[in-house]
Amino acid sequence: MCGICGIWSPESQARNDPAEAARLMFFSLYALQHRGQESAGLAATDGRDLRVVRRMGLVGQVFSEPDLAVLGGRAAMGHTRYSTTGSSKIQNAQPMVVRDEELGELAIAHNGNCINAREVRDELAARGASFVTSSDTEVVAQAIAHAPGDSWDARIVQALPRLQGAWSLVLLTPTALYAIRDPLGVRPLCLGRKGNSWLVASETCALDTIGAEFIREVAPGEVLRVDDRGPVPIADLSSRTRRGLCIFEHVYLASASSRLGGVSVYATRERMGEILADEHPANADAVIPVPDSAIPAAVGYARRTGIPFHEGLIKNRYIGRTFIQPSDELRRHNVALKYNALGDVLEGKRVVVVDDSIVRGNTSGPIVELLRRHGAREVHMRICSPPLRHACYFGVDMARRSELVASRLGIEEIRQHIGADSLGYLSVEGMVRATGGTADEYCAACFTGDYLVPVQLELDKSSLETPVRARVPIAEPR
Ligand code: AMP
Repeated sequence: MCGICGIWSPESQARNDPAEAARLMFFSLYALQHRGQESAGLAATDGRDLRVVRRMGLVGQVFSEPDLAVLGGRAAMGHTRYSTTGSSKIQNAQPMVVRDEELGELAIAHNGNCINAREVRDELAARGASFVTSSDTEVVAQAIAHAPGDSWDARIVQALPRLQGAWSLVLLTPTALYAIRDPLGVRPLCLGRKGNSWLVASETCALDTIGAEFIREVAPGEVLRVDDRGPVPIADLSSRTRRGLCIFEHVYLASASSRLGGVSVYATRERMGEILADEHPANADAVIPVPDSAIPAAVGYARRTGIPFHEGLIKNRYIGRTFIQPSDELRRHNVALKYNALGDVLEGKRVVVVDDSIVRGNTSGPIVELLRRHGAREVHMRICSPPLRHACYFGVDMARRSELVASRLGIEEIRQHIGADSLGYLSVEGMVRATGGTADEYCAACFTGDYLVPVQLELDKSSLETPVRARVPIAEPR
């Protein structure tokens, strides 16, 4: 996943409050926390050089008031990380900075997964580049730094067509901010405005949080440069035939308060619940969501069936997403830590429990058991996405294919595995219909196996784990 954001304030405005740009990015990152909880970083510039603060941890823990004062700046950018290529460690935290002797510094924040990073890294290494991290983001940064051209604009436009996969990027130099999406637009990125300042962010919720107005999406393949003259598209790398926004953004990743491609995520999730009710009705006394991500879908399911909506599980809001934990063992314990069941609501009832997805299949079984232990007479599990059978290579850390329970077991076997009385998944067609769009606007490869670009199926997140020394070094955080 990962959340990225950036701001460019005109010089006159920045002079009044030099900490403002970094402060606004701090609050934007807060709104993007759901996209990554491993590390967070901010980079800022006063027009001369770049300053960076990046540490492991949550946004609220990583930055202090003095950090924001030191960062200052008229322009800033931020990143929250959830690793897809490269392990969870400080060297891989972002923004990363490359220094080029001729052009100076460039900070980069990346959401997505560059699937040919290994090949590009080898090509660059053969030309004398070397690498200090195991992250594909460094490969993108070095590809730009080593591209021909006497400006960052020229090098960016030269380098990007060589990269395959998903890359929404925010780049910052002392003289410009860039917002870029890959040709298919797999990961979201939008443009906003607050007064005279221009902002970019992974999701619209990050604009709302700081009172910025949504202007438009950054288009798939668009390279947008922002400076005192405002946003100017400098290249169009889009795929003319296809778009491919990740449909799992609608299912789970994005905040329900965001809009993706002009479509409300909350409303889409409600419609997913309604269509799921049509496809898999149930005789039951209560519809309950697995909080928080499945709440809108459960509202839709309840509305469509007329079965009353109840809260039956209370989520401990101080425990992060269980997926973030590194081992299955820890994840299993986390289910008990994460939810408390409401016996008064559940006692004697036949419940429909709505969840957004089953990935490894470690969560649903303990939830069914918890509901039964607190009095549920029947538990009917409804999932508002199709069976996840294929690995994601485009920026969602979703497990290897062999770990996906639906790649090994059929639906009846999964039902038995989780101990539910019945199990129903939303169809691919129903999921797409819920977005109001058409199948050719989305990447749904994790459900269908139809990857929009050829992938090496054995690729995994540690594929760049052998570093070599850098000629254009990645700067240590200051
Ligand atoms: P499990 O089936 O035990 O692997 O966990 C499935 C639960 O994890 C779902 O209910 C989702 O809410 C959540 N989930 C799904 N995909 C992801 C992801 N890529 N990262 C974090 N959590 C996820």
